[in-house]
Amino acid sequence: MSALLPVEQALAQVLASARPVRDVVELPLLDAPGHVLAQDVVSTIDVPGDDNSAMDGYALRASEAGQALPVSQRIPAGAVGSVLTPGTAARIFTGAPVPPGADAVVMQENCTERDGVVSVGGPVCVGQNVRPRGQDITGGATVLEKGRILRPQDVGLLASIGRGTVSVYRPLRVAVLSTGDELVEPGSGELRSGQLYNSNRYTLASLLRSINLEFIDGGIVADDADITARALRDAASDADCVITSGGVSVGDEDHVKNQVERLGQLDLWKLAIKPGKPLAFGRIGDTPFIGLPGNPTSVFVTFCLIARPFLLKMQGVTEPEPPRLQARANFTVDKPGGRQDYMRVTLVNANQGLEATKFSNQSSGVLSSVSHSNAFAVIPPGATVSEGDFVEVILLDSLAR
Ligand code: AMP
Ligand code: MG
Repeated sequence: MSALLPVEQALAQVLASARPVRDVVELPLLDAPGHVLAQDVVSTIDVPGDDNSAMDGYALRASEAGQALPVSQRIPAGAVGSVLTPGTAARIFTGAPVPPGADAVVMQENCTERDGVVSVGGPVCVGQNVRPRGQDITGGATVLEKGRILRPQDVGLLASIGRGTVSVYRPLRVAVLSTGDELVEPGSGELRSGQLYNSNRYTLASLLRSINLEFIDGGIVADDADITARALRDAASDADCVITSGGVSVGDEDHVKNQVERLGQLDLWKLAIKPGKPLAFGRIGDTPFIGLPGNPTSVFVTFCLIARPFLLKMQGVTEPEPPRLQARANFTVDKPGGRQDYMRVTLVNANQGLEATKFSNQSSGVLSSVSHSNAFAVIPPGATVSEGDFVEVILLDSLAR
């Protein structure tokens, strides 16, 4: 187990072991954004329900557009007209049903109405400015498939077919433990030499909440075997997944890996990923366990690349991985590395498409590199890069918001 596992292989193994949650809750539509749809949604209605006007204007028979037409009825939105008498037009407003007999609407800017008679300038085509019934959605059609994270526009779509509630999966409960005797909570006082503020707890809580998972705070755990074991066991009994930061490396003070092996099993440890090599994955009893490294940038990278897709799959999401794009490198990689490097870069739209510029300090301890970048550039092990080469990039907005 000491050879470094390629990222793709590790991810495939981790995803294959994810058991999706089954519990379903019915939520009011306003509470639904960010949750994962648990059932396909089929519309029972056509949207729109009528042929209706796309403009404020006059409804008429296209074939009669050349003659002056008396205005025989008025149809505002919300009202329903009657059959259009031949040789007449109907005053109509946007969204109102086109009356039977009419087959076109002319916008009012192209019409002159005088003494109750309207004349139309220019030719008129059948169907002009008429939005046909079912143009958006037809009754019986599947509008959204289960396994998608509901976005604002999806919630609007559900409202448009008359749904007041929606079935989603229960949000997972994820426990986060921050290991390290050197850690101090921000806001609790000044640091002594050798101490640092616990940033991982905040990064991880925010990352979890950004995908609508419940953050269970396991606090700071001391670098002690028994204390670590107790904290892991308590967290596992209460959560759907346990995530730790720090303590998974090879030092004497790294207790997490050993205690997980005692309490459960370790399925993988040490990936060919940069930053974030000492990542561990396994279970404590039946509860999945993800041991993230301690360095703040490694935490961000390994959460986004490994933990996030795993948790999303557990949450019932069908496509848990982020989209990938191509950009031209504004930098070089002269020496091929042994690990897949998730370089922090800024993408800008340049003459020839997207261009990636590397953040100046790529050290795993420099969290600024993530805050001041908008993408990862993925440099595979063994690869070199010349300026202008295409590299694969992943937008940070697709991972953390
Ligand atoms: P470790 O893997 O426990 O040896 O931690 C690696 C590095 O990450 C050390 O420099 C730690 O001080 C740092 N670190 C560990 N946990 C945290 C945390 N929660 N917040 C910020 N830095 C951390
Ligand atoms: Mg430590």
